[in-house]
Amino acid sequence: MIDSTKHQGQRRQLVKLLEEKGVYDKRVLNAVGSVPRHLFMDSGLEEYSYIDKAYPIAANQTISQPYTVAFQTQLLELQKGDRVLEIGTGSGYQTAILIALEGLKVYTIERQLELYKTTVLLFKKLGLNPKKVIFGDGYQGLPDQAPFDAIIVTAGAPQVPKPLLEQLTIGGRLVIPVGEKDQVMTRYMRTGEKTFDRQTFGNFRFVPLLKDER
Ligand code: SAH
Repeated sequence: MIDSTKHQGQRRQLVKLLEEKGVYDKRVLNAVGSVPRHLFMDSGLEEYSYIDKAYPIAANQTISQPYTVAFQTQLLELQKGDRVLEIGTGSGYQTAILIALEGLKVYTIERQLELYKTTVLLFKKLGLNPKKVIFGDGYQGLPDQAPFDAIIVTAGAPQVPKPLLEQLTIGGRLVIPVGEKDQVMTRYMRTGEKTFDRQTFGNFRFVPLLKDER
């Protein structure tokens, strides 16, 4: 990967900041320290890559804030071998963090064709191999590949899409920001065929999860 000592130094600072903000999962911190976020930024914004903020990408979307990526990833409580579904591939940065955790089977869905195309090419260029990158509506999940041990939604959902809950294994976790204008970070854990535990983790702001009108 195209990286430099300057970028590595900036990443160490970013990791320190995330630790100060309360991210404690060492595997997640290591992943943030190893993934060159500057390769996922839009051209012209590279100098901001290691600032803990969201930035615009194509199709009016954003690359998530590193803190948010780390926080959501930590909430997924991933184990080696887990099958993970990401809704909202976007820049591919969150996907790259999941891949950097190693030992996961990563599926990711994007509904903006432009982003889907450029990010698939970027994954190829960087030698990143998610199990599958899908162009489609993540609201429906990925029924033919379900169940998943973990599902992460990287856009704000007005309501929790039912198909996502149904596609969790027993013991599986869904981490999803829920709300219209701003969102409450919410984790559902499936405890039985029809039972879920729900926990909330404070407010965040995401671009909206869009529902296809079909
Ligand atoms: N994980 C991304 C975040 C991108 S922002 C990153 O790290 O860069 C959220 C993304 O969700 C956008 O790319 C948007 O196009 C996508 N999205 C919104 N609604 C969606 C849907 N119903 N299905 C799949 N992707 C969706």
